[in-house]
Amino acid sequence: MIDEWDVDELTAARLDEIRRHLATWRAAFDRSDQTDELPAELQDWMWTSGMLTLALPGRDGRPASTRMLCAVMEEMARHSGGLALLCLAQATGVTALMMAADDEQRARYRASVRDRHLVAFALSETRAGSDARSLETRIVDRGDHLEVSGAKWLITNADRAEHLIVFGRHIHRGDDHGVSAVVLDRGTPGLQVASNNDLFGMRGVPTASVIMKQVCVPWRNLLGRAGDGFALAMRTLDRSRPLVGAQAVGLGQAALDLSVQHCRKRQAFGRALAGIDGVRLMVADMAVAVDASRLLVRHAADAVDADRPGATSRSAAAKFFATDAAMRVAVDAIQLLGGYGCFRGRAPERIMRDAKVAQIYEGANQIQRLVVGRHVLGPTASATATHVVAGDLPESPRGGMPDGLVPADDAGLEA
Ligand SMILES: Cc1cc2nc3c(=O)[nH]c(=O)nc-3n(C[C@H](O)[C@H](O)[C@H](O)COP(=O)(O)OP(=O)(O)OC[C@H]3O[C@@H](n4cnc5c(N)ncnc54)[C@H](O)[C@@H]3O)c2cc1C
Repeated sequence: MIDEWDVDELTAARLDEIRRHLATWRAAFDRSDQTDELPAELQDWMWTSGMLTLALPGRDGRPASTRMLCAVMEEMARHSGGLALLCLAQATGVTALMMAADDEQRARYRASVRDRHLVAFALSETRAGSDARSLETRIVDRGDHLEVSGAKWLITNADRAEHLIVFGRHIHRGDDHGVSAVVLDRGTPGLQVASNNDLFGMRGVPTASVIMKQVCVPWRNLLGRAGDGFALAMRTLDRSRPLVGAQAVGLGQAALDLSVQHCRKRQAFGRALAGIDGVRLMVADMAVAVDASRLLVRHAADAVDADRPGATSRSAAAKFFATDAAMRVAVDAIQLLGGYGCFRGRAPERIMRDAKVAQIYEGANQIQRLVVGRHVLGPTASATATHVVAGDLPESPRGGMPDGLVPADDAGLEA
């Protein structure tokens, strides 16, 4: 079994420190699942320990490798999916910034992140999730500045981020020049963040909608060139999807650990559950699913770090395989825990809720399969395939969601 990441001494020591520290916060994680807030001291530790600046270039001018980020992510998710999401969302935002920024922007945002500011990655809209190219936010060229109007939803850390990377259609003299990315700073007039969403999974790090009404943005906040935003979003997701996979490995490992502990202790038919063949078969499947996920995540992380051809597909494969495996393992853990597994708010149920969310965010798992399918089979021949997203997706019809940013009730979701 693969228990440890193959990392250098310094990194291994750091991981040990993270492991030891997080073990002392168990009760706080349970509370944050109820309150949807991480304790301030824990957030403070995330900064002091460097967990929220890992994606910034270090002394050698390079950010932490994807492999290193994955190791950290797995460790955090073993304790709390939400805590791992805090680190993941920050790494995603900072990675996008650092990849696209020019020298002046890099220095500016690097200093800001070092000053403990969060960065949010705002791509999704109510009518553009999987079909990310359909986004409706407009970035209009007003000559001496850009003007951003539109709305985003389900944006992690939107309510507390200092910088929001917003993707929108670049309009110049009425013509659409593709998708651009701009940085909107907190407090800019016209920028509003709605109240946080009350989601069932990954609690402690809320998401919120963002509303932009003719927000004036200086040109120096444009990331990369006009029209390069979609490629930036996709390159960023290539780097963040292995992290979601690693987060799922941590969740799966936690569910497996709980099952093993319980099966060793719980007696049935005159012996421990662990001695019953049917139970052993289930646990074997769970252990192999976690292990296979870990290997696939490492494989993807290394491909991304080395910029290998096929990294996009490996990254998508790791994300869908590991999150699907975590969901199965979590459900099996609840089965093995029997009645003990059915209590609300306890670890097995929390892990299952977190794993479910991980199958959806950073691109639903069906989308990841389409990306892998495209890599294996080549693009589809259908006429609609000219409009692609995250690999190879037919353009979907508009509509589906009501205009409200957050569905008021279930009926809204059906609209
Ligand atoms: C906790 C959380 C945090 C998030 N954080 C962020 C963030 O920080 N920034 C951000 O930009 N977004 C964020 N999101 C949004 C997330 O990325 C989207 O929810 C996700 O991409 C899916 O989009 P959607 O919800 O619009 O689903 P839809 O696109 O409406 O799809 C719904 C479902 O339909 C199926 N489906 C869709 N298209 C296809 C297809 N072509 N083939 C087969 N099946 C298909 C899939 O099962 C999919 O789950 C977050 C979401 C959550 C839940």
